[in-house]
Amino acid sequence: MKTRTKVVVIGGGIAGCSTLYHLTKEGWSDVVLLERNNLTSGTTWHSAAQVTNFGMNQTMVGLKKHSIKLYRDLANDPNFPVNYNYADGGIRLANTEEQMDAYRHFTSMGRGMGVDFEVIDAEECKRRHPLISTDNLLGGWWDPHDGNIDPYQLCNALTGRAKNAGAEVYTDTPVTALDQYKDGTWKVTTHKGVIDCDIVVNAGGYRVNEVAKMMNVHHPVASMEHQYFLTEDIPAIEKAGHRMPLLRCPISDYYCRQDKNGLLIGFYEQDCKPWGMDGIDPNFVNALCPDDLDRVTDVLEGAFARMPALKEVGIRNIVNGPITYTIDGTPLVGKIPGKENAFCIIGLRAGIGEGGGHGWLLAQQIVHGEACYDTWCLDPARFTSHTNVELTSLKAIEDYQNEFRFHFPHEHRPAGRSAKTTSLTPIMTENNAEFTVVNGWERVDFIKPSKDFKCTHSFNFDEAFSVVGKEIANVQNNVGICEVNGFNRFEITGEDTDSFIDRMFCGKITHKPGRVGLGYLLNELGMIKGEATITNIPESERGPKRVWYGSAAASELHDMDWLTQHIKQDEKVNIKSLTNNQTILIIAGPNSRKVISACSRENWSKEAFSWLSVRECFIGFSPATVMAVSFSGEMAYEIHIPNESLYAAYLSLTKAGTEFGMQIFGARAVESMRMEKGFLAWKHDLITEYDPFETGLNRFTNLQKENFIGKAALQKRFDSGLKKKLVCLNINCKHAPAPGGASLMDGDKVVGTISSGEWGYRVNQNLAYAFINIDKAEIGTKMDLDLFGKLVKAEVIPFAPYDSNFSRILA
Ligand SMILES: Cc1cc2nc3c(=O)[nH]c(=O)nc-3n(C[C@H](O)[C@H](O)[C@H](O)COP(=O)(O)OP(=O)(O)OC[C@H]3O[C@@H](n4cnc5c(N)ncnc54)[C@H](O)[C@@H]3O)c2cc1C
Repeated sequence: MKTRTKVVVIGGGIAGCSTLYHLTKEGWSDVVLLERNNLTSGTTWHSAAQVTNFGMNQTMVGLKKHSIKLYRDLANDPNFPVNYNYADGGIRLANTEEQMDAYRHFTSMGRGMGVDFEVIDAEECKRRHPLISTDNLLGGWWDPHDGNIDPYQLCNALTGRAKNAGAEVYTDTPVTALDQYKDGTWKVTTHKGVIDCDIVVNAGGYRVNEVAKMMNVHHPVASMEHQYFLTEDIPAIEKAGHRMPLLRCPISDYYCRQDKNGLLIGFYEQDCKPWGMDGIDPNFVNALCPDDLDRVTDVLEGAFARMPALKEVGIRNIVNGPITYTIDGTPLVGKIPGKENAFCIIGLRAGIGEGGGHGWLLAQQIVHGEACYDTWCLDPARFTSHTNVELTSLKAIEDYQNEFRFHFPHEHRPAGRSAKTTSLTPIMTENNAEFTVVNGWERVDFIKPSKDFKCTHSFNFDEAFSVVGKEIANVQNNVGICEVNGFNRFEITGEDTDSFIDRMFCGKITHKPGRVGLGYLLNELGMIKGEATITNIPESERGPKRVWYGSAAASELHDMDWLTQHIKQDEKVNIKSLTNNQTILIIAGPNSRKVISACSRENWSKEAFSWLSVRECFIGFSPATVMAVSFSGEMAYEIHIPNESLYAAYLSLTKAGTEFGMQIFGARAVESMRMEKGFLAWKHDLITEYDPFETGLNRFTNLQKENFIGKAALQKRFDSGLKKKLVCLNINCKHAPAPGGASLMDGDKVVGTISSGEWGYRVNQNLAYAFINIDKAEIGTKMDLDLFGKLVKAEVIPFAPYDSNFSRILA
């Protein structure tokens, strides 16, 4: 065995094999795969191995499209035979209009990704799949590329090609220890000896946390038992003269594909079972769990009703194996937060179909630092410290029970709720709050008019539409209060703080004590990595001069990693997270100055405390740090309170606020108001696929600045001219916001993609942001939005349509 290599990939299932292959495709041939037994001996060997192009967002569609293209290429390669039933076609069934609308939306999104999906009615479903009944069926969603592949041959083809390119594969080589040298490189210990490397990749499948433990980390991945059976031949299939399309059923929770002249049917039963919670037998290799068809009777009945022919055939074989799930059902593919030179490709629950794409995106990240798509939906940093074993398994069970029931906008499921709360959570509950979840934090979404008020899950505006409108009207006319918990907050100190910050941001950042500034961080490719406020807090009795770095709640581990990895060895910079120690109370509206003046001694006049100022003070007797910033477009104060004083500060503010009409407002109101003001949302409008000029951040970007991360690449992009631009649109539709990912059309041509959409109550317009071809970006340009299969008119309007001269904020 080699004693040194560039990358060691641990695990020879589809995840590891695809990563190894794609590393060689990206030009790194000195790479090694270590497998404890033989290739595919974990979950991969017994997979049902369906390969669909369905994805909930553009990144997922794009990576699956890559898998399919790659698998077709492999299947045509005479050197490595792979049986691939490409393009049998697949139908996702639906029995509600809400599901049908969602399918229409996914079709619109697919258009922008160059994939032609189709929404079909019940009769057409039956025409394409003659075995099904149309009872209780509205229609379905057709994926023309759906099929299945031999997973063993697939992995051998991938490693075969990788070996031809110089990679090495060692089977029967379990990794037993991982130690990191001082320079950040790794010592990988195996039964066959030691191999040193620059980078390690955990592709350990259901043994993910055995490997993670060797690095002193834990990943939020849990395994569930999952069963399918294979039937004897079905005469109707033989007669059909074509292969049956695949089926996926969110009504009765099963999938089904043709196998020989019978069917393979897999089940997602409600009475499901986590696996390996107390450790995994080291001899569980090429192994299965005991069959237990009793568990799936409820689902089985649904499948029999849909395909009566099933009742007439026997079962040939039953397979029950472990399948991995994460907290949100999407894999963890990328850099391991808090670890240097360590990556993972884990938590794959549809790994055969997706594995080609995941390995592709991971190899790009390892070699180039970033992939061609924004990979936040896969980023291991998207979960923070609350994601322990117990919570992960609760979410895994819930996700398994809802396998084909995608999340609708504003839908937050009940398992594992209240993971992160504050002293105000019970008070907000008392006030009839509906909560949304941000990185585990329970945040008020809106205040329900009654305790039993409910919203229908759909892509349309729901029952809360006018409720949110009233919250906004009160902010606009009086004053509102909103709790923003979990907002990411780092304290940066040390004598090199200012120069460090200058290097991290692409524009001018104020260092003036008492002042707040907004800035953008780029990656080495000149693309948007992050957005943060920089607050310069002068020296006081509470501490020395320090900088507060504030960014989106979910960005805690992402931003910490990015900042710490850029501190130079000789630089004196310390970063400490305050995220879990502080909460923000926002008061916003024309009466907000009166409210803060009534509960704090300071002079809050516009002269004494101007827009973008910060000061330390007391709200009542609670120590607070107050910033004059506004996301709502109204006069506002962002009040940062240590968690132990939060309740007292809230009482002071609400007592003072009663006289001025203070009411609670929630996250939905904030979302609408920020769109009216032209403020952007991280990982919606601010993504790694666009640079700051394309994102319209010219005034925050300064190519004359001596140095900042990504400058050289950005200069090159600037010189070659803009191709896309983020614009604001007015959508001519009253029943639904424009969903992220929907396509904008000029005739048959896709000219743009929606990044955010929400009703603007104060401007009375249906607003959307979209990245659009540069020749369509002029104000007044008209186009069509493919909204759930119908074309609606959209027009480019000026950004920040509400109070564009900031007169209300600056009042
Ligand atoms: C019944 C069933 C049906 C499925 N059907 C489908 C489907 O239709 N379509 C689909 O896309 N997906 C399907 N899946 C899911 C899919 O099979 C998995 O997502 C995929 O196989 C996971 O691959 P992996 O490489 O992550 O893990 P694995 O295949 O488990 O590979 C991990 C490898 O890491 C090795 N390893 C672990 N620890 C070490 C160590 N210390 N040192 C060295 N090596 C180590 C293991 O031996 C193993 O070979 C199904 C799963 C099941 C259980």
